[in-house]
Amino acid sequence: MTDNITTGGDIAAYCTKCRLILEHVVVAMVGGAVAKVKCKTCGSIHRLREGSATRRGGAKKKDPSPKSLVPAEALWETALRSARGPEQPYDMTCSYRAGDVIIHSVFGRGVLQKVFPGKCSVLFRDKERLLATANR
Ligand SMILES: [Zn+2]
Repeated sequence: MTDNITTGGDIAAYCTKCRLILEHVVVAMVGGAVAKVKCKTCGSIHRLREGSATRRGGAKKKDPSPKSLVPAEALWETALRSARGPEQPYDMTCSYRAGDVIIHSVFGRGVLQKVFPGKCSVLFRDKERLLATANR
């Protein structure tokens, strides 16, 4: 796109005055690159702002791509299927063992993963949570 730009040519650039991407006229070139542009809208001459000109989007886009992770729900289903412990309502005054299935009034069914003193990690449908228990 920028190959054929010469002095006097049009270029879409960010105007520092208008604060918009607008049509500009190239007024100075340095080493084949646009150095100065004149805004067709306000007439001001300013340096071409690097990265704000003809390129759109750019390489700035961050892609968190969490899709490679196994969704919690699949883990939960697998855990439920392999859980061998008794199914019981969650009660923080009870103690549980890994593999137990507990029914939480808010989070639903969960599979007990690990037991810690005073708490345990339970895998629920959406994610793993720590729950208080009477475990020692
Ligand atoms: Zn302008």
